[in-house]
Amino acid sequence: MASVKVAVRVRPMNRREKDLNAKFIISMEKNKTTITNLKVPEGATGDTGRERTKTFTYDFSYFSADSKSPSFVCQEMVFKNLGMDVLKSAFEGYNACVFAYGQTGSGKSYTMMGNAGDAGLIPRICEGLFSKISEKTKRNEASFRTEVSYLEIYNERVRDLLRRKSSKTNNLRIREHPKEGPYVEDLSKHLVQNYTDVEELMEAGNINRTTAATGMNDVSSRSHAIFTINFTQAQFDSEMPCETVSKIHLVDLAGSERADATGATGVRLKEGGNINKSLVTLGNVISALADLSQDATNPLSKKKQVFVPYRDSVLTWLLKDSLGGNSKTIMIATISPADVNYGETLSTLRYANRAKNIINKPTINEDPNV
Ligand code: ADP
Ligand code: MG
Repeated sequence: MASVKVAVRVRPMNRREKDLNAKFIISMEKNKTTITNLKVPEGATGDTGRERTKTFTYDFSYFSADSKSPSFVCQEMVFKNLGMDVLKSAFEGYNACVFAYGQTGSGKSYTMMGNAGDAGLIPRICEGLFSKISEKTKRNEASFRTEVSYLEIYNERVRDLLRRKSSKTNNLRIREHPKEGPYVEDLSKHLVQNYTDVEELMEAGNINRTTAATGMNDVSSRSHAIFTINFTQAQFDSEMPCETVSKIHLVDLAGSERADATGATGVRLKEGGNINKSLVTLGNVISALADLSQDATNPLSKKKQVFVPYRDSVLTWLLKDSLGGNSKTIMIATISPADVNYGETLSTLRYANRAKNIINKPTINEDPNV
């Protein structure tokens, strides 16, 4: 079963781009995204090795650049397309992971968290989760337990965004449980009963996120944020009591731009390096998994030993169980529509293209002996 979906989403031109008189260079048709390089003259032949347009096919191409366009995709539609899938998996007992990848200012946080009155995937998934829980509880189908945690990886260090005030540590250790996989030691987990509980925690965590001004965008976040929902269902109806645990990781990655593109120096540069280390490793992990899945579908290929370098970065180690085998993975690559961001946008489109080939075989996390 193919369980990796890759979506690309283009946002509207922002003020800065309009002020620069930037040109719109992204077009989308069905699931295809085309980028135009305005520096290559129209009608240029392949002789120069440069084409004017490049087209990529993804699972979804979301045109969110103009609300007046008939093909406009709003937050609600992204949720219906991708978020509902995540919820379905969680209730079936699978792990799921959604991550937003892209240049700073391209719409990662907008897609994941959203704005006031224009909620993104995380709040919509949480809301959907609780409405389904209350439906099922009314029908006495099962009992549920939901816990959330929210952390940030900054400079390859893990910080709890929901820690109690008294706790001092902001460099938590990652450990690996032989059965349950990697986890963060001493990370706070918060039991939530309804959407209002989650909303409060989300707000508190967002305020705690490390943001630092860079040349690109003053509110740009230089960290990876992972919002995790631990979801347990206990079934009564079978003869044996049975508990199913699913994890949903919702990941807002740090900006994918190279440190040098933002005029970063000193400390900023070091941060940039580490952020890229996590993103580069994520790319390598994804590509290794793509190799593995191609081997699995090709009966003629010899069994290759492919090393998946999960441990090379904190991000990939933590996401290990959401990026292979036991999980459903969704990647949303967010892009700017403007020619001034051509280089970064092309690199995002290529990165997303690499992720397409992963095929996971999810297994249900069911333990009939509890
Ligand atoms: P990132 O998290 O990738 O740095 P943001 O999500 O903060 O970027 O987006 C930058 C700005 O653009 C924000 O003001 C955000 O509200 C706006 N924005 C991003 N994507 C969209 C979109 N699809 N529609 C409308 N506004 C958007
Ligand atoms: Mg952001």
